[in-house]
Amino acid sequence: MSDYKIETKCIQSGYEPGNGEPRVLPIYQSTTFKYSTSEQMGRLFDLEDSGYFYTRLQNPTNDAVAAKICDLEGGVAAMLTSSGQAASFYSIMNICEAGDHIVCASAIYGGTYNLYAHTIRKMGVEATFVDPDCSEEELNAAFRENTKAVFGESIANPALVVLDFEKFAKAAHTHGVPFVVDNTFATPINCRPFEWGADIVLHSTTKYMDGHASCVGGAIVDSGNFDWEAYGEKFAGLTTPDETYHGIVYTQKFGKGAYITKATAQLMRDLGSIQSPQNAFLLNMGLETLHLRMPRHCGNALAMAKYLKSHDKVAWVNYPGLEGDPYYELGKKYMPGGTCGVLTFGLKGGRDASVRMMDSLKMVAIVTHVADARSCVLHPASHTHRQMNDKELLEAGVQPDLIRFSVGLENIDDIIADVEQALMQV
Ligand SMILES: *Cc1c(COP(=O)(O)O)cnc(C)c1O
Repeated sequence: MSDYKIETKCIQSGYEPGNGEPRVLPIYQSTTFKYSTSEQMGRLFDLEDSGYFYTRLQNPTNDAVAAKICDLEGGVAAMLTSSGQAASFYSIMNICEAGDHIVCASAIYGGTYNLYAHTIRKMGVEATFVDPDCSEEELNAAFRENTKAVFGESIANPALVVLDFEKFAKAAHTHGVPFVVDNTFATPINCRPFEWGADIVLHSTTKYMDGHASCVGGAIVDSGNFDWEAYGEKFAGLTTPDETYHGIVYTQKFGKGAYITKATAQLMRDLGSIQSPQNAFLLNMGLETLHLRMPRHCGNALAMAKYLKSHDKVAWVNYPGLEGDPYYELGKKYMPGGTCGVLTFGLKGGRDASVRMMDSLKMVAIVTHVADARSCVLHPASHTHRQMNDKELLEAGVQPDLIRFSVGLENIDDIIADVEQALMQV
């Protein structure tokens, strides 16, 4: 990790050209890499040497961008994935197998909820969902003998619950398991979960990191802090021989790089959710301005939250950056520089009024996206979360009339003017 400030890391980390090499990170648009002898390539397959041989496992463009994200989070190793979903899947399946269990905050992204509640269950891994605001006792009661990880989102999409990192980290570590955090909404500009006890951080880079809604992608970063060998029996995949690589033991051979090396060497090898180098290049362009964009997103969202709060047709507004919000204090503690550019609100006319208002917007678009330069809205109950029943919706912190508003980087006066004219139609 470099000693540069985070703004500098956004621009400089991950790639340092040698003499006469391209100043800008090149796109290694190649599936494969050439070697002079069969022996040299063989050693790569045995993980005896490090080097590139096939882009499904590793690619220099991807690695440079992963290294930048690693540096931004303050981790020791990182990898890119084809999507945030793949990152969420790998982060858990790298340490779980059939018969295992995870503890998960219930206020999370709908796609992650489906993945953990249903899809990995079919693979034999069960999740217990806990209210993120539960007491320490309730949280501890969710653990079992076979629990392997604790998961939560730093700012939940779309519930906008700020996770009490210290409470979750303490429970995870008391039970000898890692604390995994999805830091998509806060980004490392606003929050660095490793500083609050998280062991693994993941991202949907599709959102603020890319920032322009151009590429779906994900990333996983390891803090290097979790001592897998201290709980060697629980994490046998990391601490006992891998017969698919002639019996190497990841923790012994790769030390603090064990978790990411295993995720690359096994999961990426076998499941293949690699990010394309072209997308990694575009992601890198987004990362260069992340430190400029996040404060503007937060400033615009706060102005919009205040505007909506004072509007007589608006029933409620949630924004953790707004004084009086239930998560304002936690936000100030864990993200003192700002939270995110997403807020939610409902109208006094209920679900129908919310839909009518959205349909009346002219500039702000209805899209299945969030956290990019263009302001957009979405109605989770009819869109992202429509697979959930009402009970599941409320457990995930999603009211049926909730509009999710991703406040973009346009001039705030124009965004408010569009909302104002739409509210007049209600
Ligand atoms: C969008 C999102 C995901 C899923 O990421 P994709 O890149 O769409 O696969 C995961 N977590 C959060 C918080 C998200 O907003």
